Amino acid sequence: MLIVKKFGGSSVANRERIFCVAKRCAEDYKKGNDIVIVLSAMGDTTDDLMEEAKSINEKASKREMDMLLAIGEQKSVALMAMALQSLGVPAISLNAFQVMMHTTSRYGNARFKNIDIERIQHELDSHKIVVVTGFQGVNKYNDVTTLGRGGSDTTAVALAAILNADACEIYTDVEGVYTADPRIEPKARKLKEITYDEMLDLATLGAKVLHNRSVEMAKKYDVPLIVRSSLKSVEGTTVKEEVKVEKMLISGVTADKNTARISVLGVKDKPGVEFRIFNLLAKNNINIDTILQSVSEDGRKDISFTIAQDAMRETLEVLNEAKDSINVRKIEYEENVAKVSIVGAGMISNPGVAAKMFEALYDEGISIKMISTSEIRVTVLVEEKDADKAVRAIHAAFALGE
Ligand code: ASP
Ligand code: MG
Repeated sequence: MLIVKKFGGSSVANRERIFCVAKRCAEDYKKGNDIVIVLSAMGDTTDDLMEEAKSINEKASKREMDMLLAIGEQKSVALMAMALQSLGVPAISLNAFQVMMHTTSRYGNARFKNIDIERIQHELDSHKIVVVTGFQGVNKYNDVTTLGRGGSDTTAVALAAILNADACEIYTDVEGVYTADPRIEPKARKLKEITYDEMLDLATLGAKVLHNRSVEMAKKYDVPLIVRSSLKSVEGTTVKEEVKVEKMLISGVTADKNTARISVLGVKDKPGVEFRIFNLLAKNNINIDTILQSVSEDGRKDISFTIAQDAMRETLEVLNEAKDSINVRKIEYEENVAKVSIVGAGMISNPGVAAKMFEALYDEGISIKMISTSEIRVTVLVEEKDADKAVRAIHAAFALGE
């Protein structure tokens, strides 16, 4: 079997953890499997590097940020290869450049285009465990790029897809995918299985367990993912196309506090204004979420939308610069908001799901600022201080706990 195993930052945070992972991988290797290990940076390394950059230059360029952040993963793969070698297992570490993991040019948020497999295949053929840096790639200028926070998952899935691996295991500090974040709702229950679509929504809407693009890619290339604990040997959660065992109305509830709302007020109501505003944001690579538009009054209307909170400064800059040309009266923003979402494939065929969610919020006296829905999801925007309470109330209302 060819197995791709990805370990997150906490799983390789120190010497003990590194050896723990190395031993586990060595066991699988000795059973005759081919092993590719993908690693994140150790512990809080990436955060620390970002802080360090900030202390030098508040507005460091994205290119230099990628150059800096990429060293975190390079350190962990080298140490892991050394640990494996010390256990008598042949191993080699490779960075994105050595493998040639080609990405788009966009620093800080690059996407894989194609990955050369010759080098990895060659090392596997000579019976080595191959330890590859997660989170990074190389663009057409031969510069280092990174895939966005949490991107190592996507590296693992991409390698599993291109190498046609038999399994892709994502090891983390939790035991799998839960009905809610166990730190917010202690009664949250671990799911045995979840569909790609549900997982994609959960990951996009705040569940930190998997990088959303890794799920997108797993679905596209039909790579079944297993999310499991790197510390305990217990069964995890399988993410796949169709789920047979547990058919649930709702699979999970999640909160995303990295959310801000922006309102452009008094927009002249002419055809094309929406296009101009959102095209401007798209050109600046700003991702928009829920959009709400008011009914026009006296030829003017208001448009509100949500974005990631860390994109707010940039968004306001872009909008303010274009304020006159897009003909708006005022731009407002609100930072202390959070998105709370329920996700479940069972929603498609069951009416009343949104109503039940709204009732749970009403019972707690939580007011809703915006609503958006899809076939398998309902998202509401609430005050950030209410987010955890909302998660618990909804979790209880749908009886998702143990
Ligand atoms: N080290 C990177 C981060 O902290 C990538 C990852 O962990 O997946 O975001
Ligand atoms: Mg992660």
